[in-house]
Amino acid sequence: MAGHLYIVAAPSGTGKTTLVRLLLENDPGIRLSISYTTRAPRAGEEDGREYHFVGVPDFLAKIGTGDFLEWAEVHGNYYGTSKTWIEAEMAAGRDVLLEIDWQGAQQVRKIFPAAIGIFILPPSLAELERRLSGRGTDSAETIARRMAAARDEMRHMAEFDYVIINDDLQQALGDLLSVARASRLSFKAQSQRHAALFANLF
Ligand code: 5GP
Repeated sequence: MAGHLYIVAAPSGTGKTTLVRLLLENDPGIRLSISYTTRAPRAGEEDGREYHFVGVPDFLAKIGTGDFLEWAEVHGNYYGTSKTWIEAEMAAGRDVLLEIDWQGAQQVRKIFPAAIGIFILPPSLAELERRLSGRGTDSAETIARRMAAARDEMRHMAEFDYVIINDDLQQALGDLLSVARASRLSFKAQSQRHAALFANLF
């Protein structure tokens, strides 16, 4: 049985990474795809854990050899999803989660039309701005640029199947767990998982 493919997108500042981490802790059946990126690691990030950090020449070489299921330039850096890893996991029937942007989501949907898209929203623009400003000593210009990027991402929200508003973290986590649980209860998933039962009902 093929696994489910979840795509989670959100503008930065919505708590997406925290939510995804909690989802994975609470639902061990889902595996996170570790993307490749050319951006520099942030404090506390480890190669192979948050991302595979590579240089631009390596990234371009991987595009050339067809290693990516999708790739995109986001905020001036390259990001890409490893094709071989996803294909192996999905073929083994495991559920995989991609934390990617709208451009990547569009490419993945073409290859896996059954992918389940989840978009995470902040409770308001004012709260998003507060969260984006609260990160440190960034200039008003930097924050304005992040807000514009957030709006660009949110323009693509309707391309996703589910929308989760991250006002209260526990509530949003419950919503995310519900989406994962519901997807496993679809007719298609259940009829494959319980093939013997389904075969002898009538
Ligand atoms: P960050 O640098 O803050 O970790 O991520 C910046 C943006 O890049 C986020 O919107 C994130 O979802 C997106 N991103 C991360 N990995 C990938 C990937 O493999 N492909 C695409 N298309 N976007 C990605």
